[in-house]
Amino acid sequence: MIVTAPSLSKVICVLSGGVGAARLLQALSGVIEPRELRAVVNVGDDLVLHGLTICPDLDTIAYTLSGRHNDVLGWGLKDESWRVMDELDALGGEAWFRLGDRDLATHLYRSQRLGEGATKTIVTAELCAKFGVDVALLPVSDDPLATVFDTELGTLSFQEYFVRHRHDVVVHGVKVEGAASARVSAGARDALTTAARVVIAPSNPLISIDPILQVGDVRSLVRGRRDDVVAVSPIIAGAAVKGPADRLLGELGYAVSCVGVADFYGDMVGTWIIDEHDAEHADTLRERGHRVIVTTTLMHETANAHRLARAVLS
Ligand code: GDP
Repeated sequence: MIVTAPSLSKVICVLSGGVGAARLLQALSGVIEPRELRAVVNVGDDLVLHGLTICPDLDTIAYTLSGRHNDVLGWGLKDESWRVMDELDALGGEAWFRLGDRDLATHLYRSQRLGEGATKTIVTAELCAKFGVDVALLPVSDDPLATVFDTELGTLSFQEYFVRHRHDVVVHGVKVEGAASARVSAGARDALTTAARVVIAPSNPLISIDPILQVGDVRSLVRGRRDDVVAVSPIIAGAAVKGPADRLLGELGYAVSCVGVADFYGDMVGTWIIDEHDAEHADTLRERGHRVIVTTTLMHETANAHRLARAVLS
C-alpha cells in the first residue's frame, strides 16, 4: 500500500477591511483560483440605518470582485442613481450616509434575510452567489461589533467619524464594542486554522484589521501561525494610499511608516511586504525578526497588482 502525505491546503486566508483588501483579493484572483481564497472580513464598521443592516467592508469587496464597484466614488456601485436619497433629503431625513438606489437593494435583501433568522455569514454567501463572486467572504463574527472613536468631539460611531466628519477629527483612542463577547464565525475559524497562508491585507491596521484581531481568539490564532503570516503595508512612503491610516497611526503614537505598522502588529507577522519607496526600512524590519520582501505595492495597474499577488504567494 502506498501511503501519501496529506496534501497541504492550497487555501489562502486574507484578513480584510474594505478597499485595500478588495484590491488585493482582486489581484490574487488574477493569479490563483478565486475558490482557493477565503477573506475573513471586518464587521466593526457595520451599521443599522433606516432599519437596514449595512456592511460596508463586505459590500466593498463583493462589489469589487464582481466588477460592479464605483471607481469614481471609491465606494458603492457603478451606474448608480440617487433618487431615494434626494427624496429623503427633501423630507429632512438622515441622508448624510449616501445609499444609492441600486446599493439599497443589497441592504434590503440582507436586512430581510437577517430578520428571518439567517446569519450574516449565510446572507453574505447568498449575495456572493448572486453577484458571481467565487472568493469566500467570511464575516469574522456573526455577532454585533461596533468600532467607536474617542475624539476631540467626544465619542463617535464609525460612520460618524468616517463619513459625517470625513475622518477630519483628532482621535485619542479606538474601541471595538462587543469584541470581548463576540464569537469567531465557524467559517472564519476554519479559514484561519487550515489555510496554507494567512495574509494581512493592506487595510487600515487600526480600524479595519484590529477589530478582526480583537474577536475571540483570532489574535492568538494568527500569532500561532506566524511563519505563515504575510502582511502588506498600507503605508507607502509615509502616506496612506487612501483614508486616515497615516493620520491615525500618528495620533495613536506610532511612526507614520511601514515600521509603525509593523510595530502595531508586533510579532504576529512572519513576512512583511513593503513598497520599493520604503526599501530604506527593510533592515529595521529584519532586525526585528521579520522576513522582508520589497516590491511595488500600489495596485492601480494590473501588472503591478499581479506582481504583488505573486509576492504574497511566493
Ligand atoms: P476601507 O475600509 O474601505 O477604508 O478600506 P481598508 O481599510 O481596506 O483600506 C484602506 C487602506 O488601504 C489605506 O490605508 C490605504 O493605504 C490602503 N490601500 C488602498 N489601496 C492600496 C494599494 O494599492 N496598495 C497598498 N499598499 N495599500 C493600499
